[in-house]
Amino acid sequence: MMQNLPFEPEFEQAYKELASTLENSTLFQKKPEYRKALQVVSVPERVIQFRVVWEDDKGQVQINRGYRVQFNSALGPYKGGLRFHPTVNLSILKFLGFEQIFKNALTGLNMGGGKGGSDFDPKGKTDNEIRRFCVSFMTELCKHIGADTDVPAGDIGVTGREVGFMFGQYKKIRNQWEGVLTGKGGSWGGSLIRPEATGYGVVYYVEHMIKHASGGKESFAGKRVAISGSGNVAQYAALKVIELGGSVVSLSDSQGALVLNGEEGSFTVEEINTIAEIKVQRKQISELATEAAFSSKFKYIPGARPWTNIAGRIDVALPSATQNEVSGDEAKALIAAGCKFLAEGSNMGSTQEAIDVFEAHRDANPGAAAIWYAPGKAANAGGVAVSGLEMAQNSARVNWSREEVDSRLKKIMEDCFNNGLATAKEYVTPAEGVLPSLVAGSNIAGFTKVAEAMKEHGDWW
Ligand code: NDP
Repeated sequence: MMQNLPFEPEFEQAYKELASTLENSTLFQKKPEYRKALQVVSVPERVIQFRVVWEDDKGQVQINRGYRVQFNSALGPYKGGLRFHPTVNLSILKFLGFEQIFKNALTGLNMGGGKGGSDFDPKGKTDNEIRRFCVSFMTELCKHIGADTDVPAGDIGVTGREVGFMFGQYKKIRNQWEGVLTGKGGSWGGSLIRPEATGYGVVYYVEHMIKHASGGKESFAGKRVAISGSGNVAQYAALKVIELGGSVVSLSDSQGALVLNGEEGSFTVEEINTIAEIKVQRKQISELATEAAFSSKFKYIPGARPWTNIAGRIDVALPSATQNEVSGDEAKALIAAGCKFLAEGSNMGSTQEAIDVFEAHRDANPGAAAIWYAPGKAANAGGVAVSGLEMAQNSARVNWSREEVDSRLKKIMEDCFNNGLATAKEYVTPAEGVLPSLVAGSNIAGFTKVAEAMKEHGDWW
């Protein structure tokens, strides 16, 4: 039990989601000592909090808060992204770091879990302001990270540009070129496929869900796929869906949703590329929505999420913007629209109410509307997996081809799906015709791997 905790709603939500699936399985009956491991693993090994002072273009002093949560290093150096967004606080970074521990375990690579960032808002800032912020942020963070200690990457608000500025500052202060950050530029140590990895990985994961559910008969071909977000994860998920013959029927951003006008058609590759271009300039999709090419084909709904605003059937939903972006009612609406597969590109994309709805709809007997639900810690593990492959390439001073990295990513996503499925079958016994719970299976598989390593390190006994 968590006691005497500060008010950390997002972290508590992530903790309870994991703990409840362990409790509702046979895990603690078979291994009651794991209750102690759960207590230990839910406290970060270290939390670093610091002041970031930087100068804006007017010469004014600006102050932000910087953080790094070094949650767990049982399986390897702390690994997890940096988020720059005004909503960032310790509760959000603890939830993200906690999820990251088990996600990284599921990749099968040697990475611990961590997360960091700042309440800095990159929107509306010039490139020079962003550079000065990144330099100041790394001036402090560089004391606490390193290729064998803690290897951050990007997340919301942190792209290759910010990674570059931070890497440059690390190198200057430490006088060391090392793979201390992932998501680096291709010419200076970045891995091919890293930008695409999370979005592609989600789609590879869902391919296995579809294949398994249909006994190998179905694929993405002909599927109508609702996606939220329009950043890194959403863009590459959308491009891969189109490549595999599916239709993308929605995208969104923090200001609103862009959905197809009718029940036919799909976003095209060109339209997604146009959206990607405006996102590099930190603009909103509302600016595109009024252009003739977009307004004739799409409907823009300010302040809305896509889920309840799509005309016609939805086969697959991929929340790919931010946490808690699918409510209980939206989960019900998705199932009513025919959705059979939901996989989170975002971390904790679904509220607990939505997860409860999905888990209550696993009855695949004739006449019942069943849905396969994949939590972010399994479905979006492709990003950190390729970050792990970037670390391996940096250590060996080699660069793998696109094909090599992509095939490793595909294998990791396949293993991730099969591991969650097999573990669910081992620890949760559903009634006849009820689908295995991928959320329980993934949580248990990730948790037991970390718990065992911690036990061998003497972290609990
Ligand atoms: P980006 O910054 O590239 O894109 C984020 C997208 O989500 C944008 O469309 C943004 O809109 C929207 N968004 C951000 N905050 C909110 C909000 N509060 N409400 C509604 N929409 C919002 O980030 P990523 O694509 O990298 O990340 C998306 C999600 O995927 C996050 O949950 C992240 O943690 C997760 N993830 C990312 C990985 C990666 O490799 N990048 C790996 C694994 C998970 P706007 O443009 O208006 O800001």
